[in-house]
Amino acid sequence: MSLSDPVKPHRICVCVRKRPLNKKELAKKEIDVVTIPGNGALLLHEPKQKVDLTKYLENQTFHFDYSFDEDATNDLVYRFTAKPLVKTIFEGGMATCFAYGQTGSGKTHVSFCLFPKQISKTLFPCCSSEALTYLQTMGGDFSGKSQNSSKGIYALAAQDVFTLLRQKRYADMDLCPYVTFFEIYNGKVFDLLNKKAKLRVLEDEKQQVNVVGLQEVPVSSVDDVIKMIERGSACRTSGQTFANASSSRSHAVLQVILRRRNFLHGKFSLVDLAGNERGTDVSSNDRHTIVETAEINRSLLALKECIRSLGQNSEHIPFRMSKLTQVLRDSFIGENSRTCMIAMISPGMNSCEYTLNTLRYANRVKEL
Ligand code: ADP
Ligand code: MG
Repeated sequence: MSLSDPVKPHRICVCVRKRPLNKKELAKKEIDVVTIPGNGALLLHEPKQKVDLTKYLENQTFHFDYSFDEDATNDLVYRFTAKPLVKTIFEGGMATCFAYGQTGSGKTHVSFCLFPKQISKTLFPCCSSEALTYLQTMGGDFSGKSQNSSKGIYALAAQDVFTLLRQKRYADMDLCPYVTFFEIYNGKVFDLLNKKAKLRVLEDEKQQVNVVGLQEVPVSSVDDVIKMIERGSACRTSGQTFANASSSRSHAVLQVILRRRNFLHGKFSLVDLAGNERGTDVSSNDRHTIVETAEINRSLLALKECIRSLGQNSEHIPFRMSKLTQVLRDSFIGENSRTCMIAMISPGMNSCEYTLNTLRYANRVKEL
């Protein structure tokens, strides 16, 4: 893959990132069933069985704007996905970047990728010890890598926002940056920068959607944004024993907002979506899980339809289909809206069914 940055951002960019096999999978000698030959192509070698019970692998080919293999760093992924969108918000547009995929495929890794050493009980006194351990391990192993490869795309995007803010042509525009960070769980919105306060979503007669009381925190440096990411992530997982399990069932939305004389100028929404694996998981009969699953399915379906409408310049955007798409309504309208989806996949044969689901979904988002 060429390392030069893409020339022109697409209105919709859909790409796939394959994570490496993890220690557990390697120990179990799991087979890697995903090959990425280049030029956006991706091959899935799906295990099949003939009637006479002989096993074989059936190759399925997919094409995306970009396909990243297990060697791609967050920094590389960022340069081809979210980075070209940063300019959009300076030009008065809406930019949105989604991380999609099954739990454990790398959504949070690409999004937040925190700096484990900075997370301590002193900084987060309200954080439970389970949540703290989770946050400390979430960043993975960065030893020996360059500093940027340890940053998630949220921090990288924030870095570029502040670089552009200092550039002469934008410095004169009087733009003020703010951050919001919230979670959508079971169709309800919770403010991660305000003790998980439950918020109401209201739509006015002009169809403008308002999340009532959502904290918009002014930020003046990349460090400020990172602090908010950390504060919100700690809030997201606090008080829950199975921190990862439950946060994987909610959508986390971080927004970098530019205001000009208090008016909205541009907005970058970065979304770590709920795991999509429950769509095919029928093993749980627990009522709570069924409701949760139905809600996740509804929102992911709605999201697909909304992004497709954006791609087709359609008049009708079904944003009311879910809370997620409702609060992101701005992202699906207007001439200057750009969206990027990073579909994350696990490479192992045991994840094949989920991987296929993810690839099909990503394909549909792009297909016009
Ligand atoms: P998700 O948010 O989709 O549930 P995570 O981002 O938490 O998944 O990833 C699961 C585990 O795999 C984490 O320990 C993470 O550090 C690791 N991981 C994910 N993607 C990569 C990658 N590209 N390279 C190295 N480790 C990764
Ligand atoms: Mg996650």
